Amino acid sequence: MMDTIKDFRGQYKFLSNFYSPCPVTYDGMTYQSTEHAYQAAKFTDKKLRIMIQKEETPAGSKKTAHKLEVEGNRRDDWNDIKIDVMSGLVTQKFMRYDDLKTKLINTGTARLIEGNTWHDNIWGDCSCPRCVGITGQNHLGKILMQVRKDIIILTLKELIGSTRECTPEEKLEREKELETMSYEDLWKKFGLEP
Ligand SMILES: [Zn+2]
Repeated sequence: MMDTIKDFRGQYKFLSNFYSPCPVTYDGMTYQSTEHAYQAAKFTDKKLRIMIQKEETPAGSKKTAHKLEVEGNRRDDWNDIKIDVMSGLVTQKFMRYDDLKTKLINTGTARLIEGNTWHDNIWGDCSCPRCVGITGQNHLGKILMQVRKDIIILTLKELIGSTRECTPEEKLEREKELETMSYEDLWKKFGLEP
């Protein structure tokens, strides 16, 4: 198992928001990728959201959104909500598609970092000469690791509920215990379960 995955391409393309098609829903509309939905969420005007929804590729959705932003259409509170929006979309993506869920779980304990060369030190970590010395905030990687942990906790909770003979009090106690465990310990426990 790799310790760090920092290239969301090739076999790890599924970790990228440019992975498509994997339809997700945001505010009553369905988009073909998390990138499309994220870009559309920047605007409250439905006409603008439809323009982004219609883009054939995630890159196209980003480009159109950028143009609309430059024209001054972006919602004022975007910076306050964007991480929550992304978190919701990424959660939905992996909860909705079992093959993606399995692939995410199979990254094990690897640290997930959205490595890039286009100076994105908010969602990832840029490795270009200009950005040397800057540690990217890696919000996308952090969200992915949180979703991975949530899936494991959920799976272990289901196991407690379905295969163990225990009183409701014991069940609650075991569930609480899971919430406080480190990811490494959760992963070990997960590996030992049938
Ligand atoms: Zn850079």
